[in-house]
Amino acid sequence: MGHELRIITNSPSETEELGFKLGRFLKANGKGTVLLYGDLGAGKTVFVKGVASAFGIAGRDIGSASFVIAAEYETSPPFYHIDLYRVEREGDIDNLGIWEYIGSGGIAVIEWAERLSEIPEDSIIVKMNFMDDSTREVIIEGIDEENWDHM
Ligand code: ADP
Ligand code: MG
Repeated sequence: MGHELRIITNSPSETEELGFKLGRFLKANGKGTVLLYGDLGAGKTVFVKGVASAFGIAGRDIGSASFVIAAEYETSPPFYHIDLYRVEREGDIDNLGIWEYIGSGGIAVIEWAERLSEIPEDSIIVKMNFMDDSTREVIIEGIDEENWDHM
C-alpha cells in the first residue's frame, strides 16, 4: 500500500482544499473508492465537499447526509456519496445496494467506512482526527506520494 501522507489542516477550508486535491487525483484516474474514518465532527463531510467540487458538484449539494444514506450525482464519472452513520447493523448495509455503487466504475466516497462488512479492493483510506477546535490531522493511505505531489 506504500506510505501514508499525514497532513494537518487549520481550518475547514484547508480540509476542503485537501479534499479537492484528492478529487482531482480521482478525476485523473477516472474511478476509485475513498473510505473515510473519524469521529463525529472530525471533518469527513467537509472533506467530501472538497472531493465533490473537483467533479463540479457544489458544496451545498453535499448533504451532511444525516437523512440520506447514499446520494448519486450524475457527473462523469458518476459520483456517489455514502454515509453509513445511521446504519446500525452490518447486515443492513449489505441490503442498501451500496455494493452496486462501489467498484461500479464511478467514484464512491464513504463516511463511517468502519461499518462496511468488507474493504473494497484498491480503496484510498482517509483517517481524520480531531486535534483542537480548528485543527485536524488527516492521514491518507493508498496513494503514491509522487502522484500526489503532481496534483
Ligand atoms: P463529520 O462529517 O466528520 O461528522 P463535519 O465535516 O460534518 O464532520 O463537521 C466538521 C466540523 O468541524 C464543521 O463544523 C467544521 O466547521 C469544523 N472544523 C473546524 N476545523 C476544521 C478543520 N480543520 N477541518 C474540517 N472541519 C473543521
Ligand atoms: Mg459527516
